[in-house]
Amino acid sequence: MSEPRKRETICVQGGWEPKKGEPRVLPIYQSTTFKYDTSEQMARLFDLEDSGYFYSRLQNPTNDAVAAKITELEGGAAGMLTSSGQAANFYAIFNICSAGDHVVSSVALYGGTYNLFAVTLKKLGIEFTFVDPQATEDEIQQAFRSNTKALFGETIANPALTVLDLQKFANIAHKNGVPLIVDNTFPTPIHCRPFEWGADIVTHSTTKYMDGHAMSVGGAIVDSGNFDWNRYPDKFPGLTTPDASYHGLIYTEAFGKAAYITKATAQLMRDLGSIPSPMNAFLLNIGLETLHLRMARHCENARVVAEYLQNHPKVSWVNYPGLPGNPGYELARKYMPDGTCGVLTFGLKGGREESVPFMDRLRLIAIVTHVADARSCVLHPASHTHRQMSEKELLEAGVQPDLIRISVGIENSEDLIADIRQALQ
Ligand code: PLP
Repeated sequence: MSEPRKRETICVQGGWEPKKGEPRVLPIYQSTTFKYDTSEQMARLFDLEDSGYFYSRLQNPTNDAVAAKITELEGGAAGMLTSSGQAANFYAIFNICSAGDHVVSSVALYGGTYNLFAVTLKKLGIEFTFVDPQATEDEIQQAFRSNTKALFGETIANPALTVLDLQKFANIAHKNGVPLIVDNTFPTPIHCRPFEWGADIVTHSTTKYMDGHAMSVGGAIVDSGNFDWNRYPDKFPGLTTPDASYHGLIYTEAFGKAAYITKATAQLMRDLGSIPSPMNAFLLNIGLETLHLRMARHCENARVVAEYLQNHPKVSWVNYPGLPGNPGYELARKYMPDGTCGVLTFGLKGGREESVPFMDRLRLIAIVTHVADARSCVLHPASHTHRQMSEKELLEAGVQPDLIRISVGIENSEDLIADIRQALQ
């Protein structure tokens, strides 16, 4: 077998590999439908007996090329794109859970994911128990039940920036016969490949660093192909028993390591339809071509900004897992030796009252509900995303009232520091 390609090469050339006379650039297959010569040819596609395109709600060549690039970057066996990161996390869970099932998740989550798990999936009969990711294996073990179907966490949590102990989480998941699903949005596969540490399935909000230019909302799911669903046939009947909607086909028998992704495409995408447009997949691909270059600059700039803030007399605290002394620093060094991400949080000595005027004085760094953009941006959750909450509720949700989140972009760091300096003055 040939050596796996390096990440930089995959970013630039992965996914779309044109043959003789084909366009060098990934084409946008802006077509809902695909033509066949005979009814028999089309019928075989509907029975999953042949692979091929017939309707873009299920699969589209532009989308598949980009999914293949992300799958190769993660070192996975199969992958798919979704219309958003929310859709990716929903599909990742719903593909193996139904009413009456249970999932254990780290509590350090993006707020939208927490809502999806704690409120919306609960309405569908799927219950979550949230655990402190820093708890011991024994403590986390206590959250498991006989109907638990997965363990979930974010590699670097948004906005808590807690670094997940991937090996610990993988051990606990596998001891309980369930897959570990990891949202790898913040470090991206450039800085962390969770499959190398035992994770089974990875999800992404590609809206963030992968797109990187705040152009298109999107998501992705990648399966390592390593979890042995057949070892627990009673736990995962959707994958190991016949699917009546495809003439009794059994996914694990028919598709092996691609079983989980094929089921998510053939059932969930078919029925729920959260596909990205081929145009958005094309834009995402342009972002991916420079992901390796941008991640390095995001991290370098974030480290410079974090160190500046740490030494500033008006700043009371800084949270950046790339800073020595940070609670996540040692885990970050282990799992992300080349860097973490460009997002950091901090508080001002004047507290919450100082946060808003500070942000209003920034000129280069814009107030935006977003992270992981080439352009630096800032948000004060207590005034924006979490503004309806009381101080007590904010603390319960893990958001300090004075917390300012900066997503450090790829501009010149001296200009960013100058902007922060004048705003602090
Ligand atoms: N996961 C993480 C870690 C996120 O930060 C976000 C959004 O900020 C999501 C998932 C949801 O992604 P999207 O906004 O693309 O639906």
